[in-house]
Amino acid sequence: MTISNTFDLIVIGAGSGGIAASRRAASHGAKVLLIEGTRVGGTCVLRGCIPKKLMMYASEMRSVFSEAAAFGWNAVSTEFDVARWTQAKDKELDRLGAVYDQMLANSGVQTLHGHARIVGKQLVEANGQHYRAERILIATGGAPSTDGIPGIEQAWTSDDILQLDALPQSLLVIGAGYIAVEFASILAKLGVQVSMAYRADLPLRGFDEDLRQQAVHALESSGVQLHPGMQAQALLKTEAGFALQLANGDSLRADAVLNATGRRPNVRNLGLESVGIHTDAAGAIPVDADSRTTAPGVWAIGDVTNRVNLTPVAIAEGRAFADTEFGGRAVQASHANVASAVFCSPPIATIGLTEAQAMEKGPCDVYTSQFRPMKKAFVGSQERTYMKLIVDRASDRVVGIHMLGADAPEIIQGLAIAISAGATKRDFDNTMAMHPTSAEEFVLMRDPARRHG
Ligand code: NDP
Repeated sequence: MTISNTFDLIVIGAGSGGIAASRRAASHGAKVLLIEGTRVGGTCVLRGCIPKKLMMYASEMRSVFSEAAAFGWNAVSTEFDVARWTQAKDKELDRLGAVYDQMLANSGVQTLHGHARIVGKQLVEANGQHYRAERILIATGGAPSTDGIPGIEQAWTSDDILQLDALPQSLLVIGAGYIAVEFASILAKLGVQVSMAYRADLPLRGFDEDLRQQAVHALESSGVQLHPGMQAQALLKTEAGFALQLANGDSLRADAVLNATGRRPNVRNLGLESVGIHTDAAGAIPVDADSRTTAPGVWAIGDVTNRVNLTPVAIAEGRAFADTEFGGRAVQASHANVASAVFCSPPIATIGLTEAQAMEKGPCDVYTSQFRPMKKAFVGSQERTYMKLIVDRASDRVVGIHMLGADAPEIIQGLAIAISAGATKRDFDNTMAMHPTSAEEFVLMRDPARRHG
């Protein structure tokens, strides 16, 4: 076996985490090889956050057009052409791809296109060549799971929804997590008849219960037909479209189906067995707080480790690894107080404890506010904004903030700093309101809606 080249670090997977780790390691002087099977960018840039948000922007245009008349504009045409959106999105992703390629080249990271496989200690094979590195970092992310329900492999995944030439007339979304809620809302706003079938009573398992209720109202107001508590038996494809057969004998029909039943870590054909790494029950690579796997010299970050599957977390894990191993500074990525957003319409954003989690920890006070935002009230829309603040009574610290409403992700990102800094309810009360905004409600909440304990 000839070794083509030797590096300080080989990174497998050029998604957000792999790119961040490579660049940070190179900035510390490491000689880095980054190997990617397809294009640089990963799920977030190519098949996730970025194109999804561009599609969400497209869907929000509908209400801009319909509300324009109330603001004094003449009628505006509202026909949506998804093929034009797809073309424009592809062009934007090409632009972003070129930016990433340039950033990597400027950082001195060497990029190789091909499928990488670990073939032994410090050894990786790609395109028939062998490369050696003292450290190997796995950052291969995840992919849609396609085996939860018999026949579900025939359904679209989120990857397909982002590549459409034509919209279906009707769409059945299976699942009720981030991807299900986001695409149900977006496609409904784009004019598709959307229904959503899920096992639980409410969508968005793990989120605050009130926020889940609010999500139901928002989805229904967008025209999404909800089928909670469903037990799927099989998905059948017929000439007339799809039929999801349920355990109670009913079936749900639609022209197209989106499989949003979760994602699985990408570990196939990675050669984990060659270094003795065993995946866990979810198929993920187990790691410690420093992202070390059980194999000496091999680390893993991001969705392939199934910790907190969000882009900024993968980036933080990648940079912590690089700073620790090459920067002479021990850093661990924190998984506490990670804010997240669901880009439905209106969007949801959340940070910290849910009400149920806060109650378990001790006495707490819950402040809520619900109102029709000025812009929507003016046009006669019934859309409402919901806000919730949870305060630990003993310390007066704000331990949870939840919101559904216009600009929720932008507002909660700012408030995330307050939570990270340990702000108290008194700090919120002492903050001058900025008027007229929705965000000001968070500093104007005087009386608790509920007191626990
Ligand atoms: P989630 O884990 O959020 O949701 C999966 C959904 O599928 C749940 O509703 C689950 O139901 C359901 N499900 C799973 N298996 C079955 C089955 N066999 N039959 C029926 N329903 C099933 O996964 P997503 O794919 O939506 O998202 C994956 C990850 O990607 C998220 O965890 C998130 O971290 C990340 N993401 C983040 C986004 C953001 O930040 N805005 C956007 C998109 C993704 P149940 O609750 O009953 O188990």
